[in-house]
Amino acid sequence: MNCIFCKIIEGSIPSAMVYQDDKLVAFNDINPAAPVHVLIVPREHIASAAAVTDAHAGLMGHIWATIPKIAAKLGIQDNFRVITNSGGEAGQTVFHLHFHLQSP
Ligand code: AMP
Ligand code: ZN
Repeated sequence: MNCIFCKIIEGSIPSAMVYQDDKLVAFNDINPAAPVHVLIVPREHIASAAAVTDAHAGLMGHIWATIPKIAAKLGIQDNFRVITNSGGEAGQTVFHLHFHLQSP
């Protein structure tokens, strides 16, 4: 599979990692849209939010439980936004599920 985020997760493409665990990674967006802008990416290749199913419920809970920890690590725990684009017309350009975590 020719997926840039899978390559970042496996380490064959470099990234600036800010958090990693057994289920997800978070790294700096290469083209930041805010002073702090990281991408939270499950290790499992899921194409988009539209491809999330009941089987992913535990993973989704883990992602949302980890977001405040990553925000705190980056010093933006009091004010942040989380965005996921699903589908090309909605702005998705990398078809591996990810959540933009951004400072204001
Ligand atoms: P989206 O347009 O919502 O699919 O978001 C994809 C994001 O991935 C964009 O904000 C890009 O700047 C970012 N991106 C693309 N390639 C890389 C990369 N190699 N390292 C870090 N971020 C990347
Ligand atoms: Zn992938």
